[in-house]
Amino acid sequence: MKKIALLLHLSLLLLATPALADLTKVADSVYSYVGVKDATPANSFAANAGIVVGRDGILVVDTLISAKEAKRFLADIRKVSDKPIRYVVNTHTHLDHAFGNGVFAREGAVIISHAADRALLERVGEATLKNIGNYGLKPEDMAGTEIVYPALTFTDRVTIDLGGETVELIRVAPSHTEGSVIVYLPAKKLLFAGDILFTDFHPYLADGDIAGWTRTLDALMAMDVERIIPGHGPLSTKKDLREMKEYLLLFDAKARELTVGSQDADAVVAELKKVLPKRSLAEWMIPFNLKSRYLQKQ
Ligand SMILES: [Zn+2]
Repeated sequence: MKKIALLLHLSLLLLATPALADLTKVADSVYSYVGVKDATPANSFAANAGIVVGRDGILVVDTLISAKEAKRFLADIRKVSDKPIRYVVNTHTHLDHAFGNGVFAREGAVIISHAADRALLERVGEATLKNIGNYGLKPEDMAGTEIVYPALTFTDRVTIDLGGETVELIRVAPSHTEGSVIVYLPAKKLLFAGDILFTDFHPYLADGDIAGWTRTLDALMAMDVERIIPGHGPLSTKKDLREMKEYLLLFDAKARELTVGSQDADAVVAELKKVLPKRSLAEWMIPFNLKSRYLQKQ
């Protein structure tokens, strides 16, 4: 009896404290968080972040939401490589992908983003940090966090040679943000899509350009790619790019159609939930996206 009670106790403990996921090896020299289940704000809204390890050093893709989160990421990186961290790419500069920049800048990394997303961070970064309560975060979650701007920006394309590993940074069109970029490893047919792709996770649309975004998804579907690390969600494929495009077009068309007849947010959200594909995480994005783009500002 005692044994059963102990086992029960242990299994409850395991349920209550899921182990923090380490970086997953997704290919030779490539590691990433993927399929994070804890989508709470302090856990970077389950944003994925990863690394490419070359002979000469490491390139980091995105830095999570805070100094605390970036330090956890850095500690996980050090479990797989002790090479110098040479570059950080911000796939875009939303808080959950770029507010950990300072931790990596102090490691000596050059922070890189598209010019438009550096400008976005300049416009809203400090105010976002100051009003972090609006994002469900407490001051203590953000302790030591500072806004660090990308030192190097580009507009179309950059190629980085890490020593035996070639990494392409590509911007197709304005999409999730004006300057959202992908990180492409052609030899591995592998792509970090940033928030251009949300898989099994309702996307954040507030800063999005739906027409450019669908064009970007078309361009990604035409690339020589087999595996894709989305901005949020599990390791993905082109099928998920297709579903992302369908989701965007459906949300946009339905939200427009429904808000012609009604400005009642709850009623419109209820209708949207009936037609949108089911996704496991972040259903709260539906009302958020509706209010940010489709309802008249109150
Ligand atoms: Zn984002």
